[in-house]
Amino acid sequence: MTVDIMADLAQVCDDLTNPRKHREPRGHYWDAARHRRTLPDHEVTLPGLITQVGQIVYPSGQQDDGTCTMRPVPGSRIPGNPKAVTCYLEIHIAVTRWHVLFGLTLRDTIESSIRQLLGKASSEHSDTQVELLDEMRRWRHQCEIVTRWRDPDPELDAPCPVEQCGARTLRVNLAKRTARCNTCGARWAEEVDEDRGIGSIGVLGRHIQAHRAESTAASRSAWDEERARKARRTGRAA
Ligand SMILES: [Zn+2]
Repeated sequence: MTVDIMADLAQVCDDLTNPRKHREPRGHYWDAARHRRTLPDHEVTLPGLITQVGQIVYPSGQQDDGTCTMRPVPGSRIPGNPKAVTCYLEIHIAVTRWHVLFGLTLRDTIESSIRQLLGKASSEHSDTQVELLDEMRRWRHQCEIVTRWRDPDPELDAPCPVEQCGARTLRVNLAKRTARCNTCGARWAEEVDEDRGIGSIGVLGRHIQAHRAESTAASRSAWDEERARKARRTGRAA
């Protein structure tokens, strides 16, 4: 189990911090002898996801080696993408929190700070590793949405059922049949896992249905009231 968690952690860490090759097929062409030939894939090396987000946040803050410093670079343009800024800040705060928890000192760049967390995680309890993995996956997911590698998950128009939360930030992943709350981090899936705090998607579904029924009833009664008020007014006017 522990080995798997560390392998998953290494993979997520890699996606977040290491440059990756991206291949895009370029299709076919017909040669002089009318043979169908495949064009070689177009290949580009992209920086790690965090760096890509950093480049959106600080468009001129890029260094020669393609990494982004954690400090805003003087003269950089005013950040214009609130989603990228929020994502970048949230990850910085979370990385700092993990460093405090692990008793580590932050490194110069966010990328090497994240890699440092991976190194330290190998000597931590498996519960802590799972927690870090869940969080790093969340960072990756956010980065992928900001950098447009992934479409944002559909929003659910219902408040989070977690009592202290109630935020309208439920997101659903239809392919995986999972949902989560972007505010409190609560998650739901078909397979309930109490140890990891994963609730039942069925229970969440019923909560949403109940909420919809409630708000339909509420809007209907507001509508009835409005109609009654109008009727009274026209009654008086007549
Ligand atoms: Zn919530």
